[in-house]
Amino acid sequence: MRRSRHPSGVPDDVDRLRDLLHASRRAVALTGAGISTESGIPDFRSGRGIWAEFDPLEVGHISAFRRDPVRVWAFYRLRIDVVRQATPNAGHVALAQLERDGRLARVVTQNVDGLHRAAGSDALEVHGALDRVDCLGCGARLDIAEAERRMAGDPDGVPRCDCGDPLKPGVVLFGEMLPEEAIDQAFALASSCDLLIAAGSTLEVHPVGGLPAVAQRAGATLAIVNRGPTAYDDDCDVRIEGSLGEVLPRLV
Ligand code: ZN
Repeated sequence: MRRSRHPSGVPDDVDRLRDLLHASRRAVALTGAGISTESGIPDFRSGRGIWAEFDPLEVGHISAFRRDPVRVWAFYRLRIDVVRQATPNAGHVALAQLERDGRLARVVTQNVDGLHRAAGSDALEVHGALDRVDCLGCGARLDIAEAERRMAGDPDGVPRCDCGDPLKPGVVLFGEMLPEEAIDQAFALASSCDLLIAAGSTLEVHPVGGLPAVAQRAGATLAIVNRGPTAYDDDCDVRIEGSLGEVLPRLV
């Protein structure tokens, strides 16, 4: 196997990770907000952009939606606009390419922006997605275009279901359970992979933050690529600090 060499002549951690990936039989990538900040979508922890005007723990909570859907939708309309203007970056594109090349079994993501799908990945979106809405009353699910038509026709700017209930953004709000089927699939992937690459996540939010431990218990190698500390920094096999848009394309 040909290895590209670091300028110093010594293979660096990215080379090591690429070798591990190419030697693995079943690799899974787990991504978080950090892969989308490079597409201009601010992480709510940053306190930047729309997160400077709204407290995520307030407007992103299921109790706020039940109490005041008008305010929650005022926020989500902005958030959906931010996401609509974003395009996949080199990190998303690299993971989709690895999937097509058969190097990656699946991308599991905490992100709700749909950018992995836009890049061509069949990503498992465990926190839902912003391009759809759900009815808590009758279980109906509509796409965002239909929700926006209903919003435009509603005096309060809230999309309403045919059953009369306000429709909820198609993402998992604070205080809500994660979709059981998606999280079961995520745990099955973690326990059956031999390499887990966690990219752009602090791995602090559970239950997704528990996936690396599940993978490790099943014997998998854990690699972390992130800017800034993560919950597994002292407990992983490869740790790369850096831009996902620069590191991930080097794995292809
Ligand atoms: Zn309904």
